[in-house]
Amino acid sequence: MNLLNTTSMFLLKRWYLLLSVILFSSCNSVMEMIPLDIDKNLGEQFSYQINESQSEYPFLDPEKNKEVYDYVENIKNQLINSDKIKYKDQFPYTVKIIQDDNTLNAFCVAGGYIYVYTGLIKYVDSESELAGVLAHEIAHAENRHTVKQLAESYGTGVVISLIFGSDYKELVNVGQQLLSLKFSRGDEKEADEYAVEYLYDTKYDPRGVGGFFKKLIKEEKDHNEIPDFLSTHPASQDRIDDINTKWEEMGSKEGDTGTEKHKEIVKLLTTKN
Ligand SMILES: [Zn+2]
Repeated sequence: MNLLNTTSMFLLKRWYLLLSVILFSSCNSVMEMIPLDIDKNLGEQFSYQINESQSEYPFLDPEKNKEVYDYVENIKNQLINSDKIKYKDQFPYTVKIIQDDNTLNAFCVAGGYIYVYTGLIKYVDSESELAGVLAHEIAHAENRHTVKQLAESYGTGVVISLIFGSDYKELVNVGQQLLSLKFSRGDEKEADEYAVEYLYDTKYDPRGVGGFFKKLIKEEKDHNEIPDFLSTHPASQDRIDDINTKWEEMGSKEGDTGTEKHKEIVKLLTTKN
């Protein structure tokens, strides 16, 4: 680490103190005191790594698949236009499609970088299910679950280096572990509930994410295989029940499933690639 001037030392001490508090408390008020720059910095580094790792995360050709990109982009835009999205001006909320039909997954890195696999797009039955998964992932970013988990899993030192951006190697190591980072059950429940809220402000059926979990559970029973999304997002009837309860509390609004539109997109995706 470079020699620190007095101001930096002061900041470092101040953050060290603050982050020590985080280890003992994960309450929201403490999270609110951590600057959003940490999420943004982490997201930038991670998206850079993904861009540079095209053998592992090959992007679907955007020119050849304009309709598919427009479709996913439109869903994402409807979601982030919800009044409940706090960081739409701070986070970029970009969405990229990874061409891999065998991976049933989607994720949103801290700071609002969304990735969705072609395997997931082809797997879901409707636009509202896809919107539900994206909403759930956006909720993880909005609620800053990654930074919260990092502070809890790796300790204050790593998070401090993220603030100062002083150790790129360490950032890379952290980035590589982000994908396997497991959120707590509480964080998953929170993301499910926010997904219902975000969807409620769109034309889609707000229970979209529940429909997706239902299909996953059935899949697990029939094939005895655990899809990627399930390894980090254990599905259960409890989760589906909680989603339905949240939906009822909000007024049980029904919306479009967009099943036909989704079929058209999957057909395009299959014929063009
Ligand atoms: Zn999740």
